[in-house]
Amino acid sequence: MRSIYDVSPKELEEYFLAKGLKSYRATQVFEAVYRQRVSSFDEITNIKKEVIEDLKKDFTIKIFEVVVHQKSKDGTEKFLFKLEDNNLIETVFMTHNYGTSVCVTSEVGCNMTCAFCASGMHKKLRNLTTGEMVGQIMSVIKESGREVSHIVVMGIGEPFDNYDNVMNFLHIVNNAHGLEIGARHISVSTCGLVPKIYDYAMEDLQSNLAISLHAPNNTIRDQIMPVNKAYRIEELVKAISDYIDATNRRVTIEYILINELNDSVANANELADLLHGLNVYINLIPYNEVKEKPFKRSSKERMTKFYDTLKKRSMNVTLRLEQGSDIDAACGQLRSNNMKK
Ligand code: SAH
Repeated sequence: MRSIYDVSPKELEEYFLAKGLKSYRATQVFEAVYRQRVSSFDEITNIKKEVIEDLKKDFTIKIFEVVVHQKSKDGTEKFLFKLEDNNLIETVFMTHNYGTSVCVTSEVGCNMTCAFCASGMHKKLRNLTTGEMVGQIMSVIKESGREVSHIVVMGIGEPFDNYDNVMNFLHIVNNAHGLEIGARHISVSTCGLVPKIYDYAMEDLQSNLAISLHAPNNTIRDQIMPVNKAYRIEELVKAISDYIDATNRRVTIEYILINELNDSVANANELADLLHGLNVYINLIPYNEVKEKPFKRSSKERMTKFYDTLKKRSMNVTLRLEQGSDIDAACGQLRSNNMKK
């Protein structure tokens, strides 16, 4: 049966209209599900019994079964959830000084096969439905007993390879009768599917874009990110620039620092040249080592030099302190470590 989390407000309105009922019933159901957080339709008291019976026949309100729930000393919580078809997905809940965020998974597995990433070791089995993405937020809220202020679509999977479901998900969590998570508090991260960057620029939602760049040139990017064969770095940077022109929004550039691969002072200068004049913010991330991969985290000294070089070049840059490093925090590690090999 279909999850109520899968249903957009508009679709719910149509559902009620088709039954000859007023469309405001949709708002009532939406508020009950996302504000009151009822766990059964029977808890809804402002809608008549027959309608409730119909809802029960057509939809479920179920949060996920929790397979693993890890809590880190710094407040990060990591969940391994079981889907209806027994596939496992991971979702991370983080605490910041500005609020809390959930890192949402968009696919079962991932086809992008970035060389450094644990997620890409397991091929994509399928897209997550909209409801399964909303379900991650609702499950985290219920399991942690906390509220969510920010969302990053940066879990397992390539969100722009599951574009429509991800966009529907954003609209549901953003809806004013539901969780009402502000679009400016939502970021979607892509490894660089160029045509979808153009589509995303045209969406009527003010959510943010993050790009996993991880290299200052094609030679290095070709070694670690197969997507760079399809869309060269120049094309990607052009898309970023066009996106900024179209939306007037700053773009986040993610750059993981991998020892002796992409972390030299020369690389930092190349990166500054590549992004010069663009309204971007560079987020430097220490690489999380994955035991099956040969890559190492850059030394503190190399990271600091890289950062200083970008600063000197007047780039807008931060060196991110990682969270949850005492649990399986590296992307895809929890799922990978819990799958039968
Ligand atoms: N497919 C999307 C979103 C999922 S990956 C994307 O590529 O942006 C989320 C981020 O984590 C990406 O920037 C990815 O490159 C990065 N990442 C993957 N494995 C990592 C690791 N072991 N250490 C640090 N960052 C990693």
